[in-house]
Amino acid sequence: MEVVDQWENALRDLREVAALLELPEETVAVLSNPRRILSVSLPVRMDDGEVRVFEGYRVQHSLDRGPAKGGLRYHPDVSLDEVKALAMLMTWKCALVKIPFGGAKGAVVCDPDRMSEAEIERLTRRYTAEVGIILGPEKDIPAPDVNTNPRVMAWIMDTYSMNMGYSVPEVVTGKPPEIGGSEGRFDATARGVVTTIREACRVQNRAFAGSTMAIQGAGNVGGNAAKLAADLGSSVVALSDVNGAVYNPRGLNLWAVAARVLKTGSVLGTPGCEEISNAELLALDVDILVPAALGGTITMDNVNEVKAPIVAEAANAPITPDAEKALFERGTFVIPDILCNAGGVTVSYFEWVQNIQSLLWKEEDVYKRLEEVMLTAFYRVLDIGSRRGVNLRVASMVLAVDRVAKAIKARGLFP
Ligand code: GLU
Repeated sequence: MEVVDQWENALRDLREVAALLELPEETVAVLSNPRRILSVSLPVRMDDGEVRVFEGYRVQHSLDRGPAKGGLRYHPDVSLDEVKALAMLMTWKCALVKIPFGGAKGAVVCDPDRMSEAEIERLTRRYTAEVGIILGPEKDIPAPDVNTNPRVMAWIMDTYSMNMGYSVPEVVTGKPPEIGGSEGRFDATARGVVTTIREACRVQNRAFAGSTMAIQGAGNVGGNAAKLAADLGSSVVALSDVNGAVYNPRGLNLWAVAARVLKTGSVLGTPGCEEISNAELLALDVDILVPAALGGTITMDNVNEVKAPIVAEAANAPITPDAEKALFERGTFVIPDILCNAGGVTVSYFEWVQNIQSLLWKEEDVYKRLEEVMLTAFYRVLDIGSRRGVNLRVASMVLAVDRVAKAIKARGLFP
């Protein structure tokens, strides 16, 4: 069994690219360590009157190119090491799409499926109060991630603003539009994912329309990617959640799946589909496989079962470095996470830009700018890949790490 150590994997990727870029050892040392780690204990009164203490983190990996940026996730199995890895990925992602942010990530160890909305609100407000000392529009700007959503972002905005004594919408992105959320932020990650898949098809001379697609994860990214891909003519044949997957080789009726999720909270039981496991979904003979759930789902243990010629890493770190290398060696077109799912943070940046200027952009302007950013990054990465003869993971890391290293060099060492 391959043991997935996300932090070790993130460091491995960094060291490999640092060697290629011939970065000085001192720069590698700086980049190998998160700039700040804040660990907090969060006492929350539960609905039954008891107080439970939750563990929370905020990790700022880099502030070299601007304020730290990255999501907040709620998950029972999240660890500090995983948050460190995810914060580092955010640094590379922001640099890759050339938005002026560093990287951060936050998490609370909790199971939101077993908590009431009121409990999640109290937890969110307490978390914001505790990590608020390092948050701020010029310091660190959270956003949605696994199991958090615009409503959670609204509580963060409100709590931070109440402490300041005035409204600070720009302290968080992915908010509801009523309080400064950007048009197009909700499905921005999925839109970026589908853009990169469409371009991958183009450069591989495959038709996107008429392709078959299997998506692991029916959350904000997977669910919206399914709809957008279907709109462009791809046939989504399988979609899963934590409980399992629904499959129909002739294409899923996404309305029926959405209705089922609304009614029961799960894709399982959608009429007219076969039920398969998440492991079976990953092994389907489809044109495009989209892991859009958690990290470490494709490892050396199951990589040989993956048959899709295009794999789009919509989740963060869904494939371990060894498994990813195996896929590249087999000729699979893997779109690496920091490129594939960068649409979310890109529109987060647009939201922050609008907020600090009190502007409201139209949806079509947001989509146009997002498309431009994604296409620029995609073709830069492709170009570096072919010029250096490296795979797209290495190529995106080369571009991103080089930009961060240059920022560090330009700023010099304080004091
Ligand atoms: N959580 C998303 C990601 O992993 C978005 C982060 C953001 O918008 O700041 O990229």
